[in-house]
Amino acid sequence: MKRAYNFNAGPSALPLEVLEKAQAELIDFKGSGMSVMELSHRSKEYDAVHQEAKALLCELLNIPENYDVLFLQGGASLQFSMVPMNFLAEGQIANYVLTGSWSEKALKEAKKVGQTHIAASTKESNYRSIPNFDEIQLSENAAYLHITSNNTIFGTQWQDFPSFENVDLIADMSSDILSRPIDIEKFALIYAGAQKNLGPSGVTAVILRKDLLERIPENLPTMLNYKTHADSNSLYNTPPTFSIYMLSLVLNWVKEIGGVNEVQKRNEQKASILYNVIDESNGFYNAHALPGSRSFMNVTFTLPNEELTKEFLAGAKEAGFVGLNGHRSVGGCRASIYNAVPLEACEALRDYMISFKEKH
Ligand code: PMP
Repeated sequence: MKRAYNFNAGPSALPLEVLEKAQAELIDFKGSGMSVMELSHRSKEYDAVHQEAKALLCELLNIPENYDVLFLQGGASLQFSMVPMNFLAEGQIANYVLTGSWSEKALKEAKKVGQTHIAASTKESNYRSIPNFDEIQLSENAAYLHITSNNTIFGTQWQDFPSFENVDLIADMSSDILSRPIDIEKFALIYAGAQKNLGPSGVTAVILRKDLLERIPENLPTMLNYKTHADSNSLYNTPPTFSIYMLSLVLNWVKEIGGVNEVQKRNEQKASILYNVIDESNGFYNAHALPGSRSFMNVTFTLPNEELTKEFLAGAKEAGFVGLNGHRSVGGCRASIYNAVPLEACEALRDYMISFKEKH
C-alpha cells in the first residue's frame, strides 16, 4: 500500500494511525457488535464517544469553564449565517475584516441579517496580507468583530489576534484550528468545519463563551439557535456520529503526539521547508502571501508563467503529489499542509520543487 502525498485543501489528509484505528474498530466497535455508524445516538456507547471528543477538545485547546463546545452540521458556511442571526441585534452593526473569499462570504450572509461594516480589508492587494491591528476601524455599536484566522485560498494567516474593549471577537478558524496554541479568552466565539485539522467533513466545532447565549433572540428557528444545541449537549437532533467519532480519534492522536505545542512545532518546520525553497529560488517560485502574513497551513505560490505552472502540476501528479493546484482566484499552486500531512511529504515536495527549478 502506498499513501498519496496528500496536499488537498479540505477534505484533506488524516493521520494514518487514525484511519487504522477506525478500520480496526469499524465492524465491531468496542464489543457492541456493530460499527459506530450503526449505534443509536442515544446509546451509552455513542455517548462516551461524544463526551470524549468534547473533553479532548477542551483539554487540547485549554478551553476555560465559561465556554461551551458544540458539534453542529451545515459546515462553516452555516456559521456565516448563524453568527449574525444569533448576535447581530437591531441597531447594532456587525464588523468584518476581509482577508479573503471566506471572509467575503461571511460578510455576505451577515448583510442579509442586518447592518454591517468592513473594519479592514486587504482586497486591493489580492489578499496578500493580514491588516495591521491599527488599520482596523470599528463602527459604532459594533455587535462583534469577525475575522478569518487562516485564509485557505490565499495562504495568509493571522499571527496574533487583536483585542478591543467591549467588542467581541468571532473567528472562523476552519483551516487552522488545533494547529497552534491559542488564547481562547480573546474570542467570544470560534467556529471551524472539521475537514482540515479535526477530522472528516460533516461536523463543525463551535466554541462559545456561555454568556453569549443570553443575547440570542427567541424567535430564531430552533436548529439555528446556538442555545438549542448548548442546552442539549449537541444532541438535540441526530448528530453526525461517525464524524464526531473520527474527531475523537484525531484528538486522541494529537494528544498522543504531544498536544498542540508539538503540532505547532511540526507545522512550523513543515512550512519553513517549503517557504525556504520559494525564498531561495531567485524568484522562480513566488509566494502569494507577504512575509509576516504567511500561512503555516496553506502555502500558496506561483511560477514564472502559465506553461511552467502546468508542467509543474503535471509532473507533480505523476510523482504522486495530490491537490497542488492553486484555487482559481489566485492561480499557481497551493500546498495545504495541515496537521496530518507528514514531514516526509513536505520534504518530498521540496525535492521535487528544487529539481523542477533546476531543470528549467
Ligand atoms: N471558512 C474557511 C476558512 C474555509 O476554508 C472553508 C472551506 N474550505 C469554509 C469556511 C467553508 O466551510 P464548509 O465547506 O465547511 O462550509
